[in-house]
Amino acid sequence: MKETSFGYEQALEKIKGIGQKPIVIEIQWDGDTQGWFIMMFLITESGFWKFKRTHVHHLGNISSGHGDLRLFNGQVPPWPEAKQAMNIAEELKKELELEIYFPSPNEPDDDCPRWWEQDKAIHCADCNKLIIPTTSPYLSKEVCYNCHLKRKRKNREDIH
Ligand SMILES: [Zn+2]
Repeated sequence: MKETSFGYEQALEKIKGIGQKPIVIEIQWDGDTQGWFIMMFLITESGFWKFKRTHVHHLGNISSGHGDLRLFNGQVPPWPEAKQAMNIAEELKKELELEIYFPSPNEPDDDCPRWWEQDKAIHCADCNKLIIPTTSPYLSKEVCYNCHLKRKRKNREDIH
């Protein structure tokens, strides 16, 4: 994804246009051939009592546009796009009194549960991040992919 600019004003305008009661700002990572980027969503509520429904609306994406050599270099955070998303979300929280749901603020991860999947999620045994347990027979079920890689690296070091 190319570099994108997405900010508080734009988000607020979009939210007002949706016209339903905003309850949560959800921030998730996603990746394409150019690397990782951030997607921001708004969860709204309509109806009442038994007829309450939640809806998800895509607000916008944030990409630093550098491609993702950072990952291959083993370069560590900060991820400026995550910080930027968090700043927008904090401002929206102040204005609209909603919650922020950002399961992986410290590192890119596209295996995190969506806001409505939290009942299926577990906490990674190593870093405590919310994850959906993997179905792959080759990966550890109790940790996230990043921690799985860290464990593998550590095992290798322990052997040598
Ligand atoms: Zn982890």
